[in-house]
Amino acid sequence: MNDDTQKDKLRQHFARRVTTQARVVLDTWQKLRETPDKAAAFHADLISAADKLVRFAQRFGLDKHANAGQKLSSMLAQWPTGSPLDSESMAVLQQAIDELSRSTLRRTDQYIDEAPRTFRRTPVYVALDNMEMAGRLIKQLEFFGFRASAFPNPEALMDACALHKPESILMDVGFGGQPNQGIATVERLQARHDTPIPIVFMSDEDGTIETRLRASRCGGEEFFYPAVDPGQLIEKIETYTHGNTVEPYRVLVLDDSRAQAKFMETVLKKAGMTAHIITDTMQIIHALESFTPEIIILDMYMPGCTGMEIARVIRQQDRLHSVPIIYLSAEDDVSKQLHAMSLGGDDFLTKPIDPKHLIATIHNRGRRARSLLALMIRDSLTGLYNHTHTLYLLDQEIAKAKQKGHGLCFAMMDIDYFKKVNDTFGHPIGDRVLRSLSMFLKQRLRKTDHIGRYGGEEFAIILPDTRESDARSVLNEIRERFSELVQPAGEREFNVTFSCGIASWNGDSSQALCERADRALYRAKERGRNCVLSSDD
Ligand code: GH3
Ligand code: MG
Ligand code: MG
Repeated sequence: MNDDTQKDKLRQHFARRVTTQARVVLDTWQKLRETPDKAAAFHADLISAADKLVRFAQRFGLDKHANAGQKLSSMLAQWPTGSPLDSESMAVLQQAIDELSRSTLRRTDQYIDEAPRTFRRTPVYVALDNMEMAGRLIKQLEFFGFRASAFPNPEALMDACALHKPESILMDVGFGGQPNQGIATVERLQARHDTPIPIVFMSDEDGTIETRLRASRCGGEEFFYPAVDPGQLIEKIETYTHGNTVEPYRVLVLDDSRAQAKFMETVLKKAGMTAHIITDTMQIIHALESFTPEIIILDMYMPGCTGMEIARVIRQQDRLHSVPIIYLSAEDDVSKQLHAMSLGGDDFLTKPIDPKHLIATIHNRGRRARSLLALMIRDSLTGLYNHTHTLYLLDQEIAKAKQKGHGLCFAMMDIDYFKKVNDTFGHPIGDRVLRSLSMFLKQRLRKTDHIGRYGGEEFAIILPDTRESDARSVLNEIRERFSELVQPAGEREFNVTFSCGIASWNGDSSQALCERADRALYRAKERGRNCVLSSDD
């Protein structure tokens, strides 16, 4: 790295500390407005946060932030601590805050261009004694859509955690300079929260069993010694943060009693699940198709047919073979229950049901069903959809597009010269590149897009309701950003590019659509690689 880029990186790193401090000011103001009864306490916080902002911004030469902060500070100084503010002064203050908020959003430096379109809301905190390394890591994390901040000492970290509980903390075991000071800080931090923050510890020395135990007991998910490379760290952080974004279970309930069905709906929704209730047996086929449940709850006895008969019909469809079916009934004859279970049921719960038991049963069944399903439809290296499932989804999306009169785009991408990556750096580093591209795609594409690993180093993306020009600009942006991502390999670093072919659906079959995308990809390779072409180019 030459001197200039080094300086530039440091400048960016410090600029980020100013923006972080500006966010602290904005958050404190928010709290002050939301809790008028604690205004006096937050007033003092706001004064010190604004002063700190001015100091930081002046030190690192960010004039806009410094000016906005100064304006705020002088206004706050005229407000006697503890006394309520009249609405006129409040409005003037709000104006100063708005100004600060605008300069924070503009961020004066160039990250805004590099950053993904959507940032995760909760931040990742980096508490490392080596600030240069912290800066490098933050940059990588931001590439993957994490909001990350570094802290110079344990106190600053504690303050930031009090404002925003982070998604995860990356922590030196001796952060702050003393042996095990990092662990001690984490112990203090965790005591403030009901659910522990996942911590990734890093250590300069191989910890003793006492140190490792202590680290693990206070929420340490990992203990890295010696230092790891950023790629590995980001993968770890990604796994902990994924746990926070579990999709709600989709539960279908069939019960002829409207009162019972309503009760179930309330219980399920309260537990954060997505419930679809039907009371008419004849609607089941339609509900299975339109709602695509992950768990089905059936009443045993209904007019017209029994739950067991419905279960058999459900099980006749291959696609629904592994969806758990739970019977719910007043039937307490065990032999009848066992008979019902033999006909495709997975559990039997008797009415009246304790909501706690119901929710626990659904969670157990749902978790297991999801992991089984993942084995069937996902690729184990990247977690993306496998080839077969990607094609299934493409057919489904084409059917939807037909029905709604929407457009649809299908893209295929292939990493350039990937064989060389394997040959030069080894297969495990090649695997990491595949995972980094898959995380990158997951982060940058919409939730409604489907991403599949089509084969070796080939990926396929389905973009429902998307015009070709939009697909092209999104994929081109991803291509550019991905090519800038530094891929670490021990002491060395390298960059990887991909080529991409897009085809817009024109009423043709999924097979024809795939072929057009594939041909466009082939031409992108011929054209010199590292580009996106569409089937019309
Ligand atoms: P091009 O730019 O023309 O696409 O060249 P390329 O080297 O990327 O293409 P080629 O098809 O010659 O080589 C693909 C390589 O991808 C060969 C194979 O060993 C490697 N590969 C396929 N699957 C995996 C995998 O799961 N892990 C790793 N590390 N490598 C894989
Ligand atoms: Mg290739
Ligand atoms: Mg290939």
